[in-house]
Amino acid sequence: MLDLTYETPTPKVISGATGDWELVIGMEIHAQVASEAKLFSGASTRFGAEPNSNVAFVDAAMPGMLPVVNEYCIEQAVRTGLGLKAQINLVSAFDRKNYFYPDLPQGYQISQLYHPLVGEGEVLVDMGPGVARLVRIERIHVEQDAGKSIHDMDPNMSFVDLNRTGVALMEIVSRPDIRGPEEAAAFVTKLRQILRYLGTCDGNMQNGNLRADVNVSVCRPGQYEKYQESQDFGHLGTRCEIKNMNSMRFIQAAIEYEARRQIAILEDGGKVVQETRLFDPDKGETRSMRSKEEAHDYRYFPCPDLLPLEIEQAWVDDIEATLPELPDAKKARFMGDFGLTDYDASVLTADVAHAAFFEAVAAEAGDGKLAANWVINELFGRLKKDAREIGGSPVSAGQVAGIIRLIRAGDISGKIAKDLFEIVYTEGGDPAQIVESRGMKQVTDTGAIEAAVDEIIAANPAQVEKAKANPKLAGWFVGQVMKATGGKANPAAVNQMVSAKLGL
Ligand code: ADP
Ligand code: MG
Repeated sequence: MLDLTYETPTPKVISGATGDWELVIGMEIHAQVASEAKLFSGASTRFGAEPNSNVAFVDAAMPGMLPVVNEYCIEQAVRTGLGLKAQINLVSAFDRKNYFYPDLPQGYQISQLYHPLVGEGEVLVDMGPGVARLVRIERIHVEQDAGKSIHDMDPNMSFVDLNRTGVALMEIVSRPDIRGPEEAAAFVTKLRQILRYLGTCDGNMQNGNLRADVNVSVCRPGQYEKYQESQDFGHLGTRCEIKNMNSMRFIQAAIEYEARRQIAILEDGGKVVQETRLFDPDKGETRSMRSKEEAHDYRYFPCPDLLPLEIEQAWVDDIEATLPELPDAKKARFMGDFGLTDYDASVLTADVAHAAFFEAVAAEAGDGKLAANWVINELFGRLKKDAREIGGSPVSAGQVAGIIRLIRAGDISGKIAKDLFEIVYTEGGDPAQIVESRGMKQVTDTGAIEAAVDEIIAANPAQVEKAKANPKLAGWFVGQVMKATGGKANPAAVNQMVSAKLGL
């Protein structure tokens, strides 16, 4: 089972003019629930649809329309909570968060402030082989997304697309346990990986289906430990929140910039003002968007249109019983069952489709390590070159396994196997048949190898003298024989034969 022994990474330290500073980061991730219908209406969630075509009356806030909870969205959020080993609250409730914006026709967002569906959980953030940080999850609440204002289609007008209005989001809030820009990116990566394994969010950041608000503060070394002991935020610095980040690279750049900005203010004797900021990727800097609003600014109150949400433990148990194997468990199993390194197991489990492909190859080939090598180095490398996904791989798991079986049987050398892979990749076909029909079989017949070695030795007397004086040069003969046999000679047999003939 899962081996939880890992080292904790050291926090990022920035040296300022007055000494060292450490970073403290907490994230709020908005993950769009994978569901065909919206949270409170039956309208479609399909991305890229004609503007305002996926809008039910309730999404457009027509008078008298009432929201009805989509049970599947709640199930997905529960599944997500279970996947993050979190507390599931059998009673939760929806609140109205009031604010005005053209893309929010209701004038409020239905969210969960006081009683979220999911409570405390955790994410193990991988920072390299054997190194990981445990980041605590504070809560996950379910809420509606807003629509989209479009300002760049016309010089004089703005447009509003309500297709996104009312789509279900999970807001996943972490504790401020993330200690550097790389960890922040790794946190999002790991969370996204878990969501995709669970099938509760497609994790597509380009489409805005996963976006992060990043809270950053800086403090002196030792302060974070005091916070950890007491859970008193007073030990930490004032934070700023950078909104709506949808790229791992920008998340890191924004944190780096923001930390240095805060350090400069503090070292100058100033105070960091708690506020919401935006990252400008072109300039590489964050700038103030608005002063930080407090919950009371939104005049949150329980949504009178919805009863408290009550779910049953038996239903939660049913969902738990169908959870798939998650990344940490799969990685541990790959290391245990197939003897893979932490690194290889991480690469193979990064994506659930990759992991499934590898397992199919390993099972058919009967050798997990060779299967890992071939899948990672040959197949993934080749697919990447063609910008292809695993789902569109022209080579099946059975074909890769077929190549590996030929290597294991001694029918082909590693070098020929690579040629064979290229043939199978570009032309298709059964590896064993291709080897047979194209005469690619490895020559293990000592008579044939001996004849080739004799020929090379006879033709190169000067080289023979040199090799006798310096045995290291025997490799040249091996290379010549391999060349002469089109790479088909068994390298071990050639080596032996060359040594014997040269009397080494
Ligand atoms: P809000 O909802 O108003 O943004 P929360 O109290 O829910 O505020 O916190 C939001 C996020 O800010 C959480 O991820 C939390 O971990 C993080 N956070 C809180 N205090 C700090 C701090 N001093 N430095 C960095 N992150 C912080
Ligand atoms: Mg916030």
